Amino acid sequence: MMERNIETNRNIEKVSFRDLNLKSIITCPECNYQQEENIPIIYGKYIYKCKNCGKILLPKEGDCCVFCSYGSIPCAAKQKEKNI
Ligand SMILES: [Zn+2]
Ligand SMILES: [Zn+2]
Repeated sequence: MMERNIETNRNIEKVSFRDLNLKSIITCPECNYQQEENIPIIYGKYIYKCKNCGKILLPKEGDCCVFCSYGSIPCAAKQKEKNI
């Protein structure tokens, strides 16, 4: 008689973005209205429209996206930079 060992499939854990915070509160510089937004993992947001006063927010000079300029938490790319 022959016995076979059954190999169970191992789940490969992806840890790359696990520790990142992907919620940021954007504060409008015009009316101080605060709105929670999801941070996209791959690309930051370049244009954000305030839901209260309608002002179009663009990143400040030197910032890569509106999360870095107006958010409580910077974008995913910036968070990764800090972790390294
Ligand atoms: Zn506003
Ligand atoms: Zn950014």
